[in-house]
Amino acid sequence: MPATSLDQLVSLSKRRGFIFPGSEIYGGLANTWDYGPLGVELKNRVKKEWWQTFVHKRQDMVGLDAAILMNPKVWEASGHVSNFNDPLVDCKNCKERFRGDKLLEEKLDVEAAAVLKIDQVQPMLVAEKIPCPGCGKIAWTEAKKFNLMFKTQQGVIEGEGSDIYLRPETAQGIFVNFKNVINTIRPRLPFGVGQIGKAFRNEITPGNFTFRTREFEQMEIEYFVEPGEDKQAFEDWKQTVWDWYLSLGITKANLRIREHDKKELSHYSSRTVDIEYRFPWGWGELFGLANRGDFDLSQHEKASGEDMKYTDPDDATKKFTPHVVEPSFGCDRTVLTFLLEAYTEEKLENGETRTLMKFDPRLAPIDVAILPLSKKEHLVAKAQELYKKVVQGTDLVVDFDVTGSIGKRYRRQDEIGTPKCITVDFGTLGEDAKQGEKDTITIRDRDSLKQERLHIEELINSLVR
Ligand code: ATP
Repeated sequence: MPATSLDQLVSLSKRRGFIFPGSEIYGGLANTWDYGPLGVELKNRVKKEWWQTFVHKRQDMVGLDAAILMNPKVWEASGHVSNFNDPLVDCKNCKERFRGDKLLEEKLDVEAAAVLKIDQVQPMLVAEKIPCPGCGKIAWTEAKKFNLMFKTQQGVIEGEGSDIYLRPETAQGIFVNFKNVINTIRPRLPFGVGQIGKAFRNEITPGNFTFRTREFEQMEIEYFVEPGEDKQAFEDWKQTVWDWYLSLGITKANLRIREHDKKELSHYSSRTVDIEYRFPWGWGELFGLANRGDFDLSQHEKASGEDMKYTDPDDATKKFTPHVVEPSFGCDRTVLTFLLEAYTEEKLENGETRTLMKFDPRLAPIDVAILPLSKKEHLVAKAQELYKKVVQGTDLVVDFDVTGSIGKRYRRQDEIGTPKCITVDFGTLGEDAKQGEKDTITIRDRDSLKQERLHIEELINSLVR
């Protein structure tokens, strides 16, 4: 289990500026969350790592950024209008609403809960004696299908506009642009398109911090292959993604793969595996890999009348609809996982407890902090000079902090996960030979707490990546 309880993380996130409750001054809004000054840096770094690994550093990938609002016909063709439903049950006693399948998952296993028909959900809840998590009574209504897409209106006059949806997944933006990408980039199969962007689902029971929210960000890839090559591509992606999570510091024991039962599969998928993470409340989906076959391209071809086939550049007679393997990452869930993994409490020799966020240095919101030992004017000026040097000589994110005792400032940097702290003292100024020679500083390592005395020039060279 991760050592962290969710409460500890929520509290640190608020206190240090990673994640704030949304619309807080108005009492919040149903499990919405805002990324604060450090949260946005962390999230941007997660996205940057993802984009570099899966788009920039691969010859078979390109990127895309499609609109959130799409022609509603997209969602009819994709099956979301008729199939993107969850079974909703109401508690007749306290009127709270829940997802019937999720309530059952705690008693039955996930597959067994997922394959139930809509009219079996309520009888099953009663048979299993599952009480309302709100009031403890067993008084369930029949389950109703509830479409998860957010509907809104387009147009200037209320009531006269046409109904339109906020996209529930980024994937369809890639499918509808398939022809555009083929015609401009002229890629050879296999190739993929990656996209990072917001998606919206009117979840019945959002909760568990940023794990389930109604507005969230996805990092998705649609990987197009020749029919018959999809099975191998599926295996390759499963391994690649698993390795990516481990390479950024997720503990292996906190990850597992869950294969979906045939009956549990979404309407478009012939095989799905999830990578799950051991969250403080139990295992939960972090990432999903689906074999979508030619479902989406064929559906869009039928509905739009546009040819969605691929022609082999070496053999014009070879024309076919590619098959698609989809690696789909939840960006917010990924960030949450990195936060949980990073959270560490350490007993120090003096009996005190040190809290630190052990982020991989590539993800840490701040790379280095520059800390003048005291508020003395000429010390601060020297430290400012160093700040400018580091900012101009590297592409690092640098924090500058003069407030409070040096111990307090170290504690803050530990709690926000800054890998290196640089202290400018009277030795740096050449005023205290005991502290060090002129133009040398102390660099402190977040994890080992080791301190080293370096010349400023040496320091800059050591920081350049
Ligand atoms: P769940 O079973 O948890 O509802 P899902 O199977 O519907 O998830 P997918 O449709 O596979 O999710 O979406 C791909 C990824 O998007 C998920 O692996 C998850 O990381 C993320 N995701 C999905 N729904 C949400 C949400 N409501 N809040 C945050 N992230 C989400």
